[in-house]
Amino acid sequence: MLSSALETAQDTNGAGLSRLDALLEAVPLAVAVFDGGLSLVATNARYRDLTGLDVAQATGRSIYDAFPNALADLTEQVDIAAGGVPVVSVRVPFQHRGNKRLVEATFIPLNDVRGERGVLFAGSDVTEREELREDLARSVAQLESIFDVLPDSVRVVDADGGTVRTNAQAQQEHAPAKPETLRELWQLDRPRTLTGTTLFVHEHPTARALRGERVRGETLEVRRGPEGAPAVIEVNSNPLYDPHRRVRGAVTVERDVTERTRLQQRVQTEAERLERMVQERTRELLALQEAASRDRRLAAIGQLAAGVMHDVNNALNPIMAAAYLLEMNAENPTAVRDYAVRIARAAETGAATAARVGRFIRQEPLLGAREEDVDLSVMVEEVVAMTRPLWQERAKGGIIKLEESLAQRAMVRGIAGELREALLNLVQNALDAMAGGGTLRIRTTVDGPDISVAVSDTGIGMSAEVRERAFEPFFTTKGVNGTGLGLAEVYGIARRHRGRAEIESSPGNGTTVRLIFPVPSGELTRATDPKMRSRKARRILLVEDHTDSREFMQALLESDGHHVDAVRNVEEARDYIRDDARPLDVLVTDIGLPDGSGWDLVAFARERRPMLRIGVVTGWEPRNEQDPGCDFTLRKPVGAADLLAEIAGSA
Ligand code: ADP
Ligand code: MG
Repeated sequence: MLSSALETAQDTNGAGLSRLDALLEAVPLAVAVFDGGLSLVATNARYRDLTGLDVAQATGRSIYDAFPNALADLTEQVDIAAGGVPVVSVRVPFQHRGNKRLVEATFIPLNDVRGERGVLFAGSDVTEREELREDLARSVAQLESIFDVLPDSVRVVDADGGTVRTNAQAQQEHAPAKPETLRELWQLDRPRTLTGTTLFVHEHPTARALRGERVRGETLEVRRGPEGAPAVIEVNSNPLYDPHRRVRGAVTVERDVTERTRLQQRVQTEAERLERMVQERTRELLALQEAASRDRRLAAIGQLAAGVMHDVNNALNPIMAAAYLLEMNAENPTAVRDYAVRIARAAETGAATAARVGRFIRQEPLLGAREEDVDLSVMVEEVVAMTRPLWQERAKGGIIKLEESLAQRAMVRGIAGELREALLNLVQNALDAMAGGGTLRIRTTVDGPDISVAVSDTGIGMSAEVRERAFEPFFTTKGVNGTGLGLAEVYGIARRHRGRAEIESSPGNGTTVRLIFPVPSGELTRATDPKMRSRKARRILLVEDHTDSREFMQALLESDGHHVDAVRNVEEARDYIRDDARPLDVLVTDIGLPDGSGWDLVAFARERRPMLRIGVVTGWEPRNEQDPGCDFTLRKPVGAADLLAEIAGSA
């Protein structure tokens, strides 16, 4: 082509030349044309720039002198071309304006117009390209080493799934076999999903990528190594496109996540196991607790039932015996009276038990009408005064020291008689625990919303089991000397007063029982101070054969400021009443007396002293409600508050 252009140039010689010049300038090469004499006849600007020759210097120059700044000898190439054989793409370094340039030189033989052989030189500056090529080679080498250093296995396949490239990891994973096709790879791997479904070859992530899909994070189980051990891999696969967006292959990256998966599974099973264990233990514990509290409840009920049965039997036995004897001796008035008294007494015992159990069971709130404001501190003083004479005896002869710490106005709202009863029970228990002596501490406190009274002793204390069960009715460790009803009553009374009872005790370290009540809401009533209630002292005759009851009631009435004379039977009472010299306001008599019925005494007293206020104390008495002869009746066991109120009522 160049030769024909050259011919044309030679032919037309004017406009033609300029066409040749234009052509020479247009090609991105340094071009020089030598004629048959190997003299330079035509050049372009790129050639002149490369060689540093101007047009004048260049024209006519010998080919052997036409590359003064080439850094290599070109004689050989020139001779070959001049001999008619083209020399293509020889790399020749040039010194070009102080820099080294690399030129790809081509020498092509050509015929000039005279038929002589000339030479065409074409030089392409490949300095940049060469640098780029070197850069590229370096980059590729770097990439390749990265490729091999990757911990993931990388496999590049062609459009048919044939292996094109693999990195070191991929090769190692499938050594010694070298799968050449996707099918071979699939046969080696035998991939399955984690749920165990086997994958067909066309479902392989690489196969999917070859259909144009980008597969991300697929987790599969495969066989690896010579033994075909199971491994878990995470697979990503991407299609590779040619410039026309046709899939020409795929690259698949696999990561071995066997360890991670195993660890995860272990963590998960461990967590599940732990959770199951916690659940099981909780269930067991709950079941145990339920069983324990059911047992306790049943035990308490059983004990309650057994206790009631015992006491009722005790009451019924003499009643039945007496009834039998009564029938046998119906003609004998003395015997009849005697049996009647026995029956009454036995029934009273039963009724007393019933009343005490009732006080435990009845936990409904108090009826407002009977409530009053009670100062616990004052009540403590009362109970102490009332019981003190009996302490030493109760403590089996031991010396009992008293320590009191009483808050000013420890006011609670409730039934004074019941609260007193509760305190009495606590003091009695404390004394029982201190056989041989000790210190009795009673403390009242007003602390925020709580009013409390605590009775402590330095006695034997309680084991955990006793402490647990102490509030149960009929639970006692005192054998025949205990009823097991004291703390049950205390508990019932505290609950009915919207409060609670707490025990603090351990064996050998004494016991504190604390009753905690809420501060009364609303205004305090005027009848606040029990001391204020019955300022008017009465003269009272108390008839009771039972020593404990007699002493208790006497102490109670005296503590309220009354003058009390006590006798044991009907006879002594009659003598007392007959004696007009003795002033008397109130008669309080038991019904079952050893030498007669209290009712006879009531009739007698009513006749002798019409103005006398008369009260009877009974646990069992069919006549009492209708009897016009008495002003009040009290059921045994006598509530202290009720007694004091009735006495005070005799204005
Ligand atoms: P009782 O006094 O008739 O046995 P309680 O209900 O008053 O019945 O008490 C029940 C049991 O609680 C007693 O038998 C005793 O074992 C224990 N207990 C109560 N108070 C005390 C105390 N202050 N010190 C040691 N043990 C006590
Ligand atoms: Mg007791």
